[in-house]
Amino acid sequence: MRDGTGPERLPWPADFAGMGALVTGGASGIGAATAALLLARGARVAVLDRDPSGAPAGTIPVRADVGSDAEVRDAVEEAVRQLGSLHTLVGNAGIGAVGTVEDNDDGEWRRVLDVNVLGLVRTARAALPHLRRAVTGAPGRVSITHTCSIAATAGLPQRALYSASKGAVLSLTLAMAADHVREGIRVNCVNPGTADTPWVGRLLDRADDPAAERAALNARQPMGRMVTAAEVAAAIAHLASPAASGITGSALAVDGGMQGLRLRPA
Ligand code: NAD
Repeated sequence: MRDGTGPERLPWPADFAGMGALVTGGASGIGAATAALLLARGARVAVLDRDPSGAPAGTIPVRADVGSDAEVRDAVEEAVRQLGSLHTLVGNAGIGAVGTVEDNDDGEWRRVLDVNVLGLVRTARAALPHLRRAVTGAPGRVSITHTCSIAATAGLPQRALYSASKGAVLSLTLAMAADHVREGIRVNCVNPGTADTPWVGRLLDRADDPAAERAALNARQPMGRMVTAAEVAAAIAHLASPAASGITGSALAVDGGMQGLRLRPA
C-alpha cells in the first residue's frame, strides 16, 4: 500500500528489539519456550516462576509464587528494575486438576482458582503501571497475553475445576482487553489443545505404560500428534509482537485442529 500503513510496514518476522518482556511460569514447557523465543527475537526477558531454576539461559529469573500477592509485586518490581522497561507480559503460570465436581473439595477449588485465575490478576495488577509507561506513539507494542486452554469452551470430561478456571481466564482476557484498549494495551490469549510439555509428561508417567499412553494420546489428536511447546510459543509471540498491533480481545487456538475439525462425517 502506498500510504505506508500496509502490512509490508509491520515488523515481520516478529521483532522485539528494545522491548522488555516478563513471562510467568517461564521455567518449563510453554512458558520456557516463549521466554526463549522472545529472547531470540531481541527482547530482554525476565522469567517469574515459583521454581525459576529452569529459566532459559540469558533470561532474568525472579522467584515468586503467583498465589502470593506480595511475592508477585516484589518480583515484578525486581524484574522491571533489571529489564529497564516492560512492554510484554505473558501470564502463563498455571496448574492442572483432574476430576468431576465430586472429586475436588473446596480447598482444591480455591487452590487452583487462586493460581490459574487470581495469579493472572495479581500479575497484571503489578505490571500495568509499568506497561502504561511503555506505551508510546508506536502502535501495538504493549500487550498482555494469557495462556488459556481449549478447556475454557470445550466441555472436557474429568476437568470440571480446570475448565472452570480456564473459562474464567478467557472472560478475564476479554474484559481486560476492553478495559485497556484505549490505553494502547492489547490483551489476548492462546488456547492450547494438548501440548507436549513436562506437565503432560508427568500425567503420562502415572500410567502403567507411559510409552503406550503417549502413543494413544498422540493418536487421538487430529494431526496424529500433540502440538509442541514451541508451536504454542510462536502463537504467543505473534500476539505479543508489534505485528499483531490490530489484535486485541482474541483467543487463538493452537490445538492441532482439536476444536475446529470434525474428521468423521456427522
Ligand atoms: P509446565 O508444568 O511444564 O510449566 C508450568 C510452569 O509454571 C512451571 O515452571 C511451574 O513452576 C510454574 N508454576 C506453576 N505454578 C506456579 C505458581 N503458583 N507460581 C509461579 N509459577 C508457577 O506446564 P505447561 O504445560 O507449560 O503449562 C503452561 C500453561 O499452559 C498453563 O497455564 C496450562 O494451564 C496451559 N496449558 C497447557 C496445556 C498442555 O497440554 N500442556 C494445554 C492447555 C493449556
